[in-house]
Amino acid sequence: MNLATFCTTWVDDNARRLMAESIDKNIVDKDEYPQTAELERRCVRMLADLWHAPGPARTLGTSTTGSSEAAMLGGLAAKFRWRAGGGTGTPNLVCGPVQVCWEKFARYFDVELRQVPLRGDRYTLHPDDLATYCDDNTIAVVPTFGQTFTGLYEDVAAISAGLDQLHAAGGPDIPIHVDAASGGFLAPFTAPDLVWDFRLPRVKSINASGHKTGLAPLGVGWAIWREAADLPPELIFDVDYLGGHMPTFNLNFSRPGGQAIAQYYEFIRLGRIGYTRVQSAIHLVAEHFAKGISGLGPFELIHGGQPKHGIAAVSWRLAADAEYSLYDVSDHLRSRGWLIAAYPLPADRQDETIMRAVFRHGFTLDMVDLLLADIRRGLDQLTRNPRRTPMTRAEVGGFTHDATPTVPLPSHRRAP
Ligand SMILES: *Cc1c(COP(=O)(O)O)cnc(C)c1O
Repeated sequence: MNLATFCTTWVDDNARRLMAESIDKNIVDKDEYPQTAELERRCVRMLADLWHAPGPARTLGTSTTGSSEAAMLGGLAAKFRWRAGGGTGTPNLVCGPVQVCWEKFARYFDVELRQVPLRGDRYTLHPDDLATYCDDNTIAVVPTFGQTFTGLYEDVAAISAGLDQLHAAGGPDIPIHVDAASGGFLAPFTAPDLVWDFRLPRVKSINASGHKTGLAPLGVGWAIWREAADLPPELIFDVDYLGGHMPTFNLNFSRPGGQAIAQYYEFIRLGRIGYTRVQSAIHLVAEHFAKGISGLGPFELIHGGQPKHGIAAVSWRLAADAEYSLYDVSDHLRSRGWLIAAYPLPADRQDETIMRAVFRHGFTLDMVDLLLADIRRGLDQLTRNPRRTPMTRAEVGGFTHDATPTVPLPSHRRAP
């Protein structure tokens, strides 16, 4: 009943057994566990192929603890490439409203984060803002393929075309890293014609979370580079425990191996057909919910769960002023056991509140109907007995996207 989290809680019995049998396997110990290393390598090749890398068998990639570590590796590679290309001064990264891992990357690795504010009725990063925010020190543009706030896909192809134009007009030649934490395991199966991956030559690296829509148990992400040459050699440490060449590039050293093993199990257990069925089913569930919630009256959809537009999530706002807030709705649902987040949009639309429900494998059409009945009951109550003042964000406990740090932000954090 937790529709706030993106992480899978579905684990079949075989995956449970594999996790139990792998409890003592350290993925970094490739000497003792060469087959774990081999399964990880196979996953990398499968993902490189799924995301249309030009030479899936030759490129490089790695498992990580999640998308956060994978994003940091993608960001670091971009920073090292920029420096190798003669970049000097403070590097910057241009993006729309991002998950907190990018704020961390920027802070931890001394990169200026240029988060383009949302203008007008926009929810996503738009190509016509690129010229204003990009310059010679831009190490990468990072579109989010499955936004945390709305679930929408940012338009990677349009952003890539915008960067082509910028370069053609004499501007810098800026690479793209796609944060496909959730979308990387959805769109290839449910919207195969949507071009967001290595089919765009400008896309140099992609991260995704195996433990979200990848259907693996908690603790695995993936970072894949377009071609081996896109991962700067300074980031690669050669370990030759196997008597051969074993490149490693991770922030962690010791790490459990079971998650990568279970990921491989899911890949071969489900295959492309299985993933297509599972992911299509969960999109149908999301779309069924979207239809229901928009039919209730007071809500306006932001993302309706369609595979072409975003992940299997639904986000919405209040269509007009009401005697209750979305925090009231969230609070009411919490008392029925449902966790559905309500939060403000990022800058410059912080005065707007939205709600988002993420649908994951295991949620059914029946459960959607139960949830809709609870929402309907909640709205009835809130309309019949309005609070004197609608609930505010500070009054609801639990889930928040608030990444407000405890120390003041450096002044360069926001672009002009
Ligand atoms: C979840 C998420 C992350 C962080 O991923 P973890 O696997 O939790 O580290 C980064 N970016 C986006 C878009 C996400 O949805």
